[in-house]
Amino acid sequence: MTGAWALRAPCSGLDGFAPNQDACSSANDIKDLCRPQLPTCGPCPFRAECIATIKPAQVKFDGIAGGRLWCNGEVIDALDDVSDEELAEPKLRPSCGTEAGAKSHTRNDERVCPSCRQATREIEARRQAEKAKQQEQLQLDFTSIT
Ligand code: SF4
Ligand SMILES: [Zn+2]
Repeated sequence: MTGAWALRAPCSGLDGFAPNQDACSSANDIKDLCRPQLPTCGPCPFRAECIATIKPAQVKFDGIAGGRLWCNGEVIDALDDVSDEELAEPKLRPSCGTEAGAKSHTRNDERVCPSCRQATREIEARRQAEKAKQQEQLQLDFTSIT
């Protein structure tokens, strides 16, 4: 883990918080390997930082982070006093060069970047071409029945 806080966390220097991928294949394996370490997070004041750093849901994390036991990015066990506020990991943004990327720029009050602008232009051009083709087909259908 990175950040000066990580050195002051109760788990600093301890092992067994993220099992070796080869050693586990199921939620039960993860429980067996990591559950004993979960109480270490009890007094930890850095649970939110821990989750924001590891981003367990995004990276499909297996192991312990933020007072929770994760399997494939989902919480399978947790300390009794965890709070949802600790879970605010940064949301994944759609990648640039896509229509969703362009929308995300707009939503965040940013200038749409050149590759998103290009992608939007291409998609719009494809939509127009598709529409023109449909209209042409309609015309043909219409002339064939008159
Ligand atoms: S929440 Fe748990 S795993 Fe995360 S830094 Fe604190 S003690 Fe370590
Ligand atoms: Zn972009």
